[in-house]
Amino acid sequence: MRVLTMTGHAIRDVGLMTLTVFSGRASAADLTEADLLAAADWLRDVYVNPGTLRSHLKGTYLLNSAYSMENPDIREPFIQRVLYGWQMPHELGTSCALCGHEALYRATREEMPLLNGRGVINFSPQGRAGLPICGWCSLLIQMALLGCLKSGRGLLMLYTDHEPLLRQVVTDALRRAQQAQTLQAGDKWAALSMPRIRFVEQVMRWLRQTARPQTNLTRVEGYHFSNSGASPFVEVFQIDRSVLQWVDHVLHHPDGDVAAAARQLLAEPADLEEGKTSQHVYEGLLKLPNNARKFLRQRLLAKRAHLTLITTFMEQIMRLSSEYIDLLKRLGDRFSQYYAMQRRFFYEFNRARNFAEFRRVVIRAADDYQRRTQQSLITMEEFIGAFVSTEDEFIDWQLSRDLITLYLMQTHAIALEDDLLMDDTVEMDDSDSIEEGDLS
Ligand SMILES: [Zn+2]
Repeated sequence: MRVLTMTGHAIRDVGLMTLTVFSGRASAADLTEADLLAAADWLRDVYVNPGTLRSHLKGTYLLNSAYSMENPDIREPFIQRVLYGWQMPHELGTSCALCGHEALYRATREEMPLLNGRGVINFSPQGRAGLPICGWCSLLIQMALLGCLKSGRGLLMLYTDHEPLLRQVVTDALRRAQQAQTLQAGDKWAALSMPRIRFVEQVMRWLRQTARPQTNLTRVEGYHFSNSGASPFVEVFQIDRSVLQWVDHVLHHPDGDVAAAARQLLAEPADLEEGKTSQHVYEGLLKLPNNARKFLRQRLLAKRAHLTLITTFMEQIMRLSSEYIDLLKRLGDRFSQYYAMQRRFFYEFNRARNFAEFRRVVIRAADDYQRRTQQSLITMEEFIGAFVSTEDEFIDWQLSRDLITLYLMQTHAIALEDDLLMDDTVEMDDSDSIEEGDLS
């Protein structure tokens, strides 16, 4: 029996994992011919006979496939080819586009989702209609429907090369699909709303429940699609590698307080209303790293997140240097000393509406501090490093200010009655000048 391995092709690999789980095997390497035959027999049964899975196959997965044809002279050769073709001689004279093995036939949207119809040469390899595939990949593609969740108007497929996560997602999807099939009466395959949120939820659930960091989780993609004849579509979702690594890092942080704060921040939506999904933190994660400053302000600063969540976010997602972050902390420590002498300073520091006003506040404070202590509050180099953009580096003075303020709050340098400054600052900054994605 040929050993089937992952190839990096989403639909095919989801099919392979679905087949592995369906067969009760720990690994795809353990699959036997008997497993493939049993899976093909089951698929034949559920795709040919009326039921939930057949209607989903027809409605969202394959268009005009011959599974449901009445005429056995058309239906049977089709079924033999797509489900049992791996037993046939492969003599197409070209290799399978998905795995490289000799191909068996050229697939169209009758055999594989998201392809063209029969005879359409546009976007086909070498200008020849159809995608050459082998009999094994053909079976895996038929299987992959069972590894998808029903969501929104189509199917939601999560693909990752991190096999433990893929196994969990596929196991859950297969269980739902099998339940739906056995319940018989009508369509019992409960659709999950909000596919974008569901996609992120599956990844977050995995990272929350794993005890150890999943450092090799670097690629996760979601495909929300339908092959329906009237309204086919595909949306691709992706969580950036830097986001996966940051989330993994903070959820598994050795400091229990940080891990708990991360769990709270990344909690699953309890009862989210459709139409309000853009407000959820999972939606924010999908827009990173482009929207990093907005995320930082709205999700972390305004919510007074744990300082480590903020600094790691700045380092890992915003790619801000640790020198810059350390400078802000150093300034925070000195500003807190001055604040103890001059409480008004902090109010002015946070309320300055433009850079000229802000600069005057800081210079006046530096002067006053120098007179009182004979020490400097902030040097010129420090001022430039924290608040002034140069040719080499973009610095957002308002962001630096917010971060110093937050640092002071979290180190309890600010008296509680002054603690409300922050929310105003955050709101003011958001309406000010920060456009989505202008960090990139
Ligand atoms: Zn193949």
